[in-house]
Amino acid sequence: MKAARLHAYHEALKLESVDEPKAVGAHDVVVKIGAAGLCRTDLHIQEGQWAEKSQVQLPYTPGHENAGWVHEVGSDVTNVEVGDTVIVHPFISCGLCTPCRRGDDMHCVNGSFPGINRDGGFAEFLLTSARSVVKLDPSLHPTQIAALADAGLTAIHAVKKAIPVLGAGTKAVVIGAGGLGHIGIQCLRAYTPTEIIVVDPSEKALALAGELGADHTVKVDGTQRDKVKELTDGVGAEAIIDFVGEKGAIEDGVEMLQDGGFYYVIGYGENINVPTIDIISREISFIGNLVGTYVDLQDLMTLTAQGQVTLHTSTYPLDAINDAMADLDNGRLQGRGILVPG
Ligand SMILES: [Zn+2]
Ligand SMILES: [Zn+2]
Repeated sequence: MKAARLHAYHEALKLESVDEPKAVGAHDVVVKIGAAGLCRTDLHIQEGQWAEKSQVQLPYTPGHENAGWVHEVGSDVTNVEVGDTVIVHPFISCGLCTPCRRGDDMHCVNGSFPGINRDGGFAEFLLTSARSVVKLDPSLHPTQIAALADAGLTAIHAVKKAIPVLGAGTKAVVIGAGGLGHIGIQCLRAYTPTEIIVVDPSEKALALAGELGADHTVKVDGTQRDKVKELTDGVGAEAIIDFVGEKGAIEDGVEMLQDGGFYYVIGYGENINVPTIDIISREISFIGNLVGTYVDLQDLMTLTAQGQVTLHTSTYPLDAINDAMADLDNGRLQGRGILVPG
């Protein structure tokens, strides 16, 4: 099969022919990829940011946001059949360890993460497990929903954590209205009565944010901190939902946060450098977010079916993956980039 593989850090992916995965294990599921989302994490993987953490051996196939059709199942798989349309939860979890029993799929102690520490979905076929697939209505095409598997899942996971903080009369600042942010805004709208302020350097992204329910949009042009201060009565917002985590976003976000407030870290790439005396005197909290649970993914599918979440995507053939990555890196990509094999 065709796959886009990383052979060396800081180099372009290579399209090549590799062996198709087989459902050898009893709970294995092989998915024929219909669509694979492109994530900023794929840029960070290429930059080598994950090399030590994931211990992945090169070459390998990235791609952790996948949807398609069941192609082959192991002997004990009963929840899906060949031909079913599925979205793939990004993590392969065991179901038996304590985090799994808590429903915390992402922290399974026996798990693995296709696209991060083993072959992912920038290919024609993906090996995953029965626990990771959510069966979908056959009328849905994978290109319509693949972005929910990671971008959407991560956004809803962070927003659900912020619900207790964002009651009536509160304000939330969303930093970044791209692949994740545009879904995060809709989840905030669906789950909370908070006033949503969106901060982004792109006029197009801000226009989309306005259409999707943002109450205020603020362009990153050097005046963004003052503008947010004005919009938050001089005290800052109860929550910062940061989908960027680099290129000045953190410094802006910490300034825009109210004392006693909560800073949700989703985008990443640089360090948070805040003196501990500020953290205690301002009583501000930083909360990490890693993708989401299986239940978060089901909740997101429900919001999508109800029309409360809609996706904005740009589609590329798998062969054009390096163009898509360049577009994402240079801010030319609107919404989520989706790769389609074949
Ligand atoms: Zn991702
Ligand atoms: Zn587990």
